[in-house]
Amino acid sequence: MVNLSDLPIRDDLRGLTPYGAPQKAVRVALNVNENTHPIPADVAVDIVESLAAAILSVNRYPDREFTELRQSLAAYLNFSVEPEKRLTADDIWAANGSNEVLQQILQAFGGPGRSVLGFPPTYSMHSIIASGTGTRWISGERDAGYEISPETVTRWIAETRPDVVFLCSPNNPTGTPLSIETISAAYDATDGIVVVDEAYAEFAPDDVRSAITLLDGRERLLVSRTMSKAFAFAGARVGYLAADPAINDALRLVRLPYHLSALTQAAAVAALRHAPEMLAMVDNIRSQRDRLLEELPKLGYTPLPSWSNFVLFGGVDDPHATFEALLEQEILVRDIGIPGHLRVTAGTEAETTAFLDALASL
Ligand SMILES: *Cc1c(COP(=O)(O)O)cnc(C)c1O
Repeated sequence: MVNLSDLPIRDDLRGLTPYGAPQKAVRVALNVNENTHPIPADVAVDIVESLAAAILSVNRYPDREFTELRQSLAAYLNFSVEPEKRLTADDIWAANGSNEVLQQILQAFGGPGRSVLGFPPTYSMHSIIASGTGTRWISGERDAGYEISPETVTRWIAETRPDVVFLCSPNNPTGTPLSIETISAAYDATDGIVVVDEAYAEFAPDDVRSAITLLDGRERLLVSRTMSKAFAFAGARVGYLAADPAINDALRLVRLPYHLSALTQAAAVAALRHAPEMLAMVDNIRSQRDRLLEELPKLGYTPLPSWSNFVLFGGVDDPHATFEALLEQEILVRDIGIPGHLRVTAGTEAETTAFLDALASL
């Protein structure tokens, strides 16, 4: 056994730390923005039947083009988003989580000698995927309240000329909105690729426009989504992308052949047949989030506005101590390194109550 530093690893990876959200067996886990509601039993039965059928042919490689899954995802998006132009399977790509989609995007459009602009504090995987693919990461700065105005995004793109821009809407870990005007301003300011990570889109207010509605006529705009959060499918690893079909041709150059297993495809297609039932908990989770936004100030904390299934709150004198005190009561939240702040996922009503009660007792 040697140390990592003893190995002939790439110089640009030396000294980096991997993604490391704690995975602890606790009573109330509210630290990685999962949907904490289990999959409804009748949906689970249907998924298992599909898996049972699929396993009989795993002697063969799976459909490399995951055609049925792309059709199902297009239908789901057309149903939930009302894009200007109906999406077809050709406009959809998928992979093992949206993290893999983002990695494929940087493999194709980033890489050595190229750069990606992001706006921290944002999803930590964005810069980690940049380093994994050898893409130079540029940190832009947000406006007050962690928002990004069209002027700010335009100025950063003009000054840094990135090959790829990563926007996160709503943003993780802050929960804050990103306007459709900022996304279209970013697109107009660059000849490069603009990626909008909409992992939490289903939790936004009903009248909010998705970046998917901007896709028509914008062939360098890519909107990534995931089944991990609203769809309660984090463990199955299914993320996807809506973009011009030519983008998919670029991703075909870098993806591994057969990257989506036959079992993953079967499980996701079955789950998408039950989209309304799978999403039935979203309203409930939104109301628990609103409850956090309402109750935290009464305990002396200052939550940020949130369009997602989690809340970042300030006014925490010692985030590390509060994190540990909650953990002692078997409640896991996230210390994302913003001074004076912690992040908590909106759970079931009982989990949210347990969190609020524990916080009040400190
Ligand atoms: C959770 C999350 C994802 C999801 O990643 P998967 O690989 O699809 O599980 C993507 N983007 C953001 C901003 C997230 O918070």
